[in-house]
Amino acid sequence: MASAVVHYAASALTDRGRKRASNEDAFGLSVEHGVYIVCDGMGGAAAGEVASTLAVGEMMQWLTQRPRTSPPPIEAAEAVNAANEAIYSRSQRNPSLNGMGTTLVALLVEDRRAWMVNVGDSRGYRLRNSNLEQITLDHSLVEEQIRLGQMSQEEALRSPLKNVITRALGTQSAVTPDIFELETEPGDLFLLCSDGLVRELSDSVVESLLRLDLTLEEMCSRLVEAANEAGGHDNITCLLVRAEA
Ligand code: CA
Repeated sequence: MASAVVHYAASALTDRGRKRASNEDAFGLSVEHGVYIVCDGMGGAAAGEVASTLAVGEMMQWLTQRPRTSPPPIEAAEAVNAANEAIYSRSQRNPSLNGMGTTLVALLVEDRRAWMVNVGDSRGYRLRNSNLEQITLDHSLVEEQIRLGQMSQEEALRSPLKNVITRALGTQSAVTPDIFELETEPGDLFLLCSDGLVRELSDSVVESLLRLDLTLEEMCSRLVEAANEAGGHDNITCLLVRAEA
């Protein structure tokens, strides 16, 4: 028996938040090609914007504007390398952009299969049967210490090192992304987001908002509103992708 093809719908929203003068987050999506990306740039306002915009542009170009010659996870790793190279070489050529970089979380989908790609501390989640599960692992100093059992969640929240990320695009000549392969079911809802969302809202609050019976556009607005109401200390980006029968 052939199983029905899964289709995807998506919506995204980015917001400067309430404290920052500029928005260094960027996103890109193509429902047609099954490519969804969120990046959170760093290195000072102008540089951060350059890095995240370059990363989204390079990734989108690599994954939507050339024929796929390899399986999606290999294509994804190649795209990440191309984006890394573009940012790194630009920062080497331009001293004012030196040290710029960006996080990247991406979702690639193909019928019932999906791949979550991660570098840094932006996050990818999946809501299935009303339960929210974080798929990606943060490449941050405190999260790595938590995973090693050397720090508690409470200590991490208070740590002066909580902004230190251990992997980024564009800060080194090469980077290796984590790639998580998933099987999708109709009804699955994927969330890609920058840390400006999840630092303001606990996973249980995000889960309760994603359970609401709203359109994806409305849900993005609610998430951004809630993060702003909680303080909006950072730029906020969310991208939602729903698998539909
Ligand atoms: Ca951020």
